[in-house]
Amino acid sequence: MQYDKNNVFYKIINKTIKTNIVLEGEHFLAFHDITPKAPVHVLVIPKGCYVDYRDFIESATDEEILDFQKGIQKVIDKMKIREGGYRLISNSGKFGQQEVMHMHVHILGKSIDD
Ligand code: AMP
Repeated sequence: MQYDKNNVFYKIINKTIKTNIVLEGEHFLAFHDITPKAPVHVLVIPKGCYVDYRDFIESATDEEILDFQKGIQKVIDKMKIREGGYRLISNSGKFGQQEVMHMHVHILGKSIDD
């Protein structure tokens, strides 16, 4: 599938739509999901234009992939959900029911203080 720039995460990266940012790295952006499904629900997206996880792994540079993966762990630490527990989800394809066609990972978790 071709990447289509007419998606909401592309607009968030280009700051034409505002969002509640948690953390920003050289190659990733993390922000709160607009309709949270857990006490902590953060989305982590690469700044590059990739449709889904497979596209990202096949097309991104090793530097982008490493920065993105380490970024996920930095968000987990920042949101203090390491002890409380969390799930990492990346939806893709028909079964995955991906809505926004820009690669993203959901972090769903709960801090022990919540
Ligand atoms: P997915 O089904 O994996 O594509 O999920 C897309 C996610 O993006 C959903 O959980 C939405 O609530 C979230 N979302 C859509 N628009 C925004 C936005 N403007 N800011 C933050 N999250 C959003």
